[in-house]
Amino acid sequence: SVKLAGRDGVRQWAEEMDAQVSQRFELERDMRIGLEHSPEQFVLYYQPLIDLQTRQVRGVEALLRWQHPQRGLIGPDLFIPVAELTGLIVPLGRRALDGACRQLQQWQSEGLALEFVSVNLSPLQFSGEDLQCSVAETLANSGLAPEALVLEITESALMTDVQKSLDTLHVLKRMGVRLALDDFGTGYSSLSHLRSFPLDKLKIDRSFMQGVPESRGDSLLLASILELAAGLQLEVVAEGVETEAQLQFLYRHDCAMAQGFLLSRPLPVGQLQAWLAQDGDQ
Ligand code: C2E
Ligand code: MG
Ligand code: MG
Ligand code: MG
Repeated sequence: SVKLAGRDGVRQWAEEMDAQVSQRFELERDMRIGLEHSPEQFVLYYQPLIDLQTRQVRGVEALLRWQHPQRGLIGPDLFIPVAELTGLIVPLGRRALDGACRQLQQWQSEGLALEFVSVNLSPLQFSGEDLQCSVAETLANSGLAPEALVLEITESALMTDVQKSLDTLHVLKRMGVRLALDDFGTGYSSLSHLRSFPLDKLKIDRSFMQGVPESRGDSLLLASILELAAGLQLEVVAEGVETEAQLQFLYRHDCAMAQGFLLSRPLPVGQLQAWLAQDGDQ
């Protein structure tokens, strides 16, 4: 009967909620244990960013992966939210920042022509008291030049407290690091605020790449975002480039850099080195 189906539905819903909640607690527990006893479970992959004029690699974005002892390789969309909720993102993010800076310093010392490494900062890291210290220490420990480090911050992290964000950005800027606005277009930034932030780069969210160039509407929208970014005098990176036609479109619209599966997926260190040796200098 309908009533029974309803009750079953509720039970099913309750079971799913239970499963989600226990998954979250299990991940949290495993993350604590992992960070404490085997932090090498947290691995950085690197995805190249290509200059659209020269088609050369300019830099890489560091993206976290978790080699979970039972579940296998887990992507950040699953564990970053848990890390953010529990505050574990602070030690985890610190580890990512450290690892990325050391890796680029090593690549540069081996003679690889990589200009920068991009590291994602979570909202909690960005608003944290020790951000300036972490960044300064990381740079000192790794020996990396500050201008070779790009910190990626999302719109929502910046817009929570505009005045405080402005102060933090200026502090980072004075240290010489570069600042990028990540996932542009998905948040709700006010354009006047955007103009006042001392940003260097703007990364257009990959959702704006969909339908380009086949759909006229999608293409017009992307073109106007690119024009807007040019007006803000920021270096523009297009995320999520999956086709040669999209790459051509971006090139014609004066986009500076592209990142996406067409060029390369995020790769572990060894594979990225092999990729750079093959494609990097064509
Ligand atoms: P993000 O910073 O916007 O990173 C770009 C994401 O887009 C990556 O997903 C990348 O694999 C994916 N991507 C790149 N090109 C393409 C493409 O052509 N097509 C499609 N469909 N996807 C593409 P990933 O590695 O799963 O990371 C997801 C998000 O997790 C990142 O988004 C970032 O917000 C967060 N994240 C990753 N590593 C860290 C970290 O170390 N710290 C923090 N706080 N967040 C991180
Ligand atoms: Mg990013
Ligand atoms: Mg992004
Ligand atoms: Mg994204």
